[in-house]
Amino acid sequence: MSPESAPVLPPPAAGAASAASAASGAPRFAAAVANPKVMRHALTTNEKLFVGPFLKSLLYTFSRMFKKDITRRYPEQKMENKPSLHGVPVLVMKEDGAPRCVACGLCEFVCPPRAIDIQPGETDRPIEREPKSFVIDMLRCIECSYCEEVCPEEAIVMSTDYEVVGRRREDFVWDLKKLLKPIAQLKDRIAWVRRTYRRWDSNADASAPPEGGVYRDPRWAGKSKPVDHH
Ligand code: SF4
Ligand code: SF4
Repeated sequence: MSPESAPVLPPPAAGAASAASAASGAPRFAAAVANPKVMRHALTTNEKLFVGPFLKSLLYTFSRMFKKDITRRYPEQKMENKPSLHGVPVLVMKEDGAPRCVACGLCEFVCPPRAIDIQPGETDRPIEREPKSFVIDMLRCIECSYCEEVCPEEAIVMSTDYEVVGRRREDFVWDLKKLLKPIAQLKDRIAWVRRTYRRWDSNADASAPPEGGVYRDPRWAGKSKPVDHH
């Protein structure tokens, strides 16, 4: 709609305007409400005829036809599954089916939108503590990877899975069963994490527990990693 054709409301009746202004307690706006000032952009002849802008837009459209595509035709064209891809966070499941997580709660604490909820419990394994319930609300998660960065056990990492779909809200609340992924699937990401955060030896086997390597972080230079009792 052109500015000239924009509808202008008729001024209200004097009695109604004064009654409304008195009721709202803002008499100083009464004059402006009764006589609204409409700012209009004066159209040039070219704009009035519309031919010029129309041809210009057509020219732009046709010029794009001979240039390389800069958009991805999703979902037919998927993103490359590179380890650096920030998908949704998932939990690392060891070869024996147990989670690496020790329910320390650091990720829950650091998560900006409070998307993580952990209920810790005791276990007979040497680690003594494990998550009885671990839930991430994917509708809240902003995929910031803070949980991955803070986790001392490499137990939560960002995956290459970026398609989070569902029909009900419950579909987006992922529990342990849905979050746990075999470590073999996450090896590349774990190796990428080690290289990127430079916390420990990037040459270490990504599927091995963080044990016996050497920290690269200058604060920990020369110190060995604590023995992993998983
Ligand atoms: S990626 Fe960020 S928002 Fe999502 S669960 Fe981890 S810390 Fe929370
Ligand atoms: S920071 Fe790591 S070990 Fe601690 S609760 Fe989160 S996933 Fe588990």
